[in-house]
Amino acid sequence: MALKQAKYYDKTDGETVVCRLCPHGCRLKPGQTGICLARQNVNGELYSLNYGRVTALALDPIEKKPLKRFHPGSAILSAGSFGCNFKCSFCQNWRISQSEQPGHDVTPGELVDAALKAVGAGNIGLAYTYNEPSIWYEFVYDCAVAAHEKGLKNVLVTNGYIRTEPMEALLPYVDAMNIDLKSMDPGFYRRQCKGELGPVLDTIRLCAQNCHAELTTLLIPGENDSKEEVRALSEWVASVSPKLPLHLTRYHPDYRMETPQMERERLFKLADIARERLEYVYCGNV
Ligand code: SF4
Repeated sequence: MALKQAKYYDKTDGETVVCRLCPHGCRLKPGQTGICLARQNVNGELYSLNYGRVTALALDPIEKKPLKRFHPGSAILSAGSFGCNFKCSFCQNWRISQSEQPGHDVTPGELVDAALKAVGAGNIGLAYTYNEPSIWYEFVYDCAVAAHEKGLKNVLVTNGYIRTEPMEALLPYVDAMNIDLKSMDPGFYRRQCKGELGPVLDTIRLCAQNCHAELTTLLIPGENDSKEEVRALSEWVASVSPKLPLHLTRYHPDYRMETPQMERERLFKLADIARERLEYVYCGNV
C-alpha cells in the first residue's frame, strides 16, 4: 500500500520534522523512523508506515479485550498492525509490537466490510488491538469514521500514550476503550516502558468522561504488585470514578522478562484490596 502522510507533525528548519502524535515528540531527519517504528521522515514529510497493514485479524469475544461491561456476550472483529511507542520488557505481543512485520494490506472499506459480514456471528464492530493502535492513528481514524457510518462500534485497546489533541479528534468515533494503567510509579514507566506516567493518566481522565472505559493493570511480581501500590492505584482510579472497571491480570514470563508467574491466591488478595475503593474489579489470566 502507498505510504500515507501522517497527521500531527511540525516541520522545523530544513527537512527535520517533529512528530506530535505521542508524548515522545520524535525529531526525525530524512530517512529516520520514530521510536514506534511506524512513522518515518520521507523527504522532509512525516509518513505512516503501517497504514492499512494488518498483521493479525480475529473475531474475538468482547471479554477478551478485556471489556466486561460493554455489550457482554458479543464478539468484535479485532485487528492489529505493527509497532509500539512503549518498549515494555514484559510485552506479550512483542513479535508485532517491537519489529516491522509484513501482514496484509487492507483498505478501511475492506476492513469495515469484513466487520459487517461478521455481524451474523455476533460482531458489533471493530477493535484496534494486538499492537498499539494510537501509533496506527491515520488508519484507525479512517476505519473508525467508516465503521460509524455503517452503525458499527469502535473499540481501542491502548497504552494511553497519546497526546490530547489527536485523542480528542478520535474520541467522537470511539465507543469503548481498554487503557493500560501499568503502575502508579513514574519510575516503573521510565524503567520498563521507556515512557512517562503523566500522559497516560491524562488520557484516562479524558477518555473516561467521553466513552465507555475500562482499565487493565498487568501485575508483575516484585515490580508493581505490592499492596501499597495496588492501594495507590485503586485510590487514583476511584478519584476518576469508583465505577471505572479495573482488570488486574496475571503476568506470565514473556519477551525479555523471566520473573516467575504470580500465585493465583495472591492476585485474588490484591483484587480484594482494589475492591475497597472500586465497584468493578476483575481478575484476568487466572
Ligand atoms: S508516534 Fe511514533 S514517531 Fe510520533 S512521537 Fe510517538 S514514537 Fe515518535
